[in-house]
Amino acid sequence: MARKKLVVQKFGGSSVANVERILNVARRVVETKKKGNNVVVVVSALGDTTDELIELAAKITDSPSERELDMLMSTGEQISISLLAMAIHKLGIGAISLTGQQVGIATDKVHTKARIEKIETKRIEKELQKHGIVIVAGFQGITPENEITTLGRGGSDMSAVGLAIALKADVCEIFTDVEGIYTTDPRIVKNARKLKQICYEEMLEMASMGAQVMQARSIEAASKFNIPLHVRSSFSEKEGTIISKEVKSMEGVVVRGVTLNKSEAKITICKVPNKPGLAAKIFETLGKANINVDMIIQNISETGATDISFTVIKDDLNKTLKVAKDLCEKIKAAGVISDADVAKISVVGIGMRSHSGVAAKMFKTLADEKINIEMISTSEIKISCVVGKAGAEKAVKALHKAFGLHKAS
Ligand code: ADP
Ligand code: ASP
Ligand code: MG
Repeated sequence: MARKKLVVQKFGGSSVANVERILNVARRVVETKKKGNNVVVVVSALGDTTDELIELAAKITDSPSERELDMLMSTGEQISISLLAMAIHKLGIGAISLTGQQVGIATDKVHTKARIEKIETKRIEKELQKHGIVIVAGFQGITPENEITTLGRGGSDMSAVGLAIALKADVCEIFTDVEGIYTTDPRIVKNARKLKQICYEEMLEMASMGAQVMQARSIEAASKFNIPLHVRSSFSEKEGTIISKEVKSMEGVVVRGVTLNKSEAKITICKVPNKPGLAAKIFETLGKANINVDMIIQNISETGATDISFTVIKDDLNKTLKVAKDLCEKIKAAGVISDADVAKISVVGIGMRSHSGVAAKMFKTLADEKINIEMISTSEIKISCVVGKAGAEKAVKALHKAFGLHKAS
């Protein structure tokens, strides 16, 4: 007998934010099943549950153990999988919910941002044969020592892509609260345009630069295994955006999208003695503490000391400050300051490879809006500026307009 088609469907937090929405997801999953497919459903925690759990931990301590944070955060997804299973049962259809551990989503040991190393498929395959629908808790995995891990914020996308790869799924659909991938966050710019298609490379850059709609790591994995993703709305039947390898209609477009990232903070180690090896020491130490550093600038001062500034995700700020203060004493720097009121704005597009003048246009647009640029970084297909948080949304709107992204390409 021919194998049934396997569809992986992921529903984000806002898609299961309340009872009515959970029932809606149940209906959609059952519809897919009734079309003759097997369905593996990945769900995130209800609404803002993960944020609320983190806030709760912060009320107890400002430096929670990362193991315990994972223990805490992973509870969110366990609530949604069980409720969704009940909602599907209510429709008279079989389904079973499984945690990351029950599936066998094996990860490394890096708590709060673990990477998937392998996914067991035996249990899921067995349950699919029995029920046709298996609901898997997103965002979580298990180490070889049976410790619960989480896959970084937005990590349910990674769970879905990982399962699609491991199970050789025919389709991987990412359901969310917008109709697809837009030229920029449609909540900030009302005339942002939905893209029919986008290639992995641009999506990866947009996601890495803050387009919250997809977790960057999941795009990296989808690209590596060439798994097309369909990002679409959980509230409508409309076609969304296909993320895939090749996108023909993209020629001629220089800037594909604008992104805003408010989740980074800037840290400056002041008056670092101007000696070889100190930058290496700083970033090696941060790396060993599993702190991912994003942008870096170093200013040489006339006094023979340099200020080194860098950005990290805000969730890592307290940990980073601790490490940086320690370092500061060891290397005899003057002190450490931080600024959490910053935002990073980026323009992204593979067309930048063959077009010049994008940076100049970006800087001029920001200057016209009287927005001061604090840091700049570029890659082959993106330019990013760190600016004060207050002017960030104004900057996104101005750049979206300046690069003509509201117009059909
Ligand atoms: P989910 O809960 O489904 O995982 P997220 O909140 O993680 O959803 O991501 C969806 C949100 O991403 C949207 O509500 C939108 O505000 C935001 N977003 C940011 N940039 C973009 C973009 N370029 N295209 C679409 N959505 C975007
Ligand atoms: N619930 C997790 C988070 O908020 C995972 C996800 O939503 O993808 O980050
Ligand atoms: Mg998400």
